[in-house]
Amino acid sequence: MATIFTALQDVQARIDTACTAVGRNPAEVKLLAVSKTFPASDIHALYQFGQRAFGENYVQELVNKCQILAECKDIEWHFIGPLQSNKTRLVAENAAWVHTIDRLKIAERLSAQRPQHLPPLNICLQVNVSGEASKSGLAADEVIALAEQVVKLPQLCLRGLMCIPESSHDSTILAQQFSVLVQLKAQLQARGLTLDTLSMGMSNDLESAIAAGSTLLRVGSAIFGLRHYSS
Ligand SMILES: *Cc1c(COP(=O)(O)O)cnc(C)c1O
Repeated sequence: MATIFTALQDVQARIDTACTAVGRNPAEVKLLAVSKTFPASDIHALYQFGQRAFGENYVQELVNKCQILAECKDIEWHFIGPLQSNKTRLVAENAAWVHTIDRLKIAERLSAQRPQHLPPLNICLQVNVSGEASKSGLAADEVIALAEQVVKLPQLCLRGLMCIPESSHDSTILAQQFSVLVQLKAQLQARGLTLDTLSMGMSNDLESAIAAGSTLLRVGSAIFGLRHYSS
């Protein structure tokens, strides 16, 4: 377990350095530990180390881990994978956040299925900032229309936008793609929406994401190690 703690500290140090470099306060940047494919015991170890926000991509894996870790009541589970309509209930019942909304139908089901005794489900709309056909997410010109419908759903709380840029080490390309998300958030705020979240930045691009204004990093392999099956 020493390695997982060291890795988490190394990631926190990268975040601190990247924030300092651009004059940001590290407290503005939340770290989501993306635990998909890794065992609940790893999550529990990080929990004891103080980490509270964990990200999962697969509904059944999320549900299993929620059950195993039920005694860790203040874990904040974020669902960050593709979501089909027949799986929305399990996510509405178990997650605190969903980052991957790009269809009204899924948002409506989550709102209807969110248990009344829980706070509203926090939502980010996923935007396809790279334009790659393989990526899910809204086109930039679809974001305002969906946001204005999602804010009306009673059991959801629209928090912001999420993106996965193209896999690149070119910081110019990354900066350009992250800036699409930043500009869209500003447009939504100009229309009166209260948003506080830019979910962007992963193991390989978190410095660029912080420079662009990320408030929530989704970091997997830099903490847990390489995954043995792909996402
Ligand atoms: C797997 C995954 C991550 C974490 O990726 P790493 O490169 O391992 O940090 C972040 N966001 C999403 C949507 C993912 O599916």
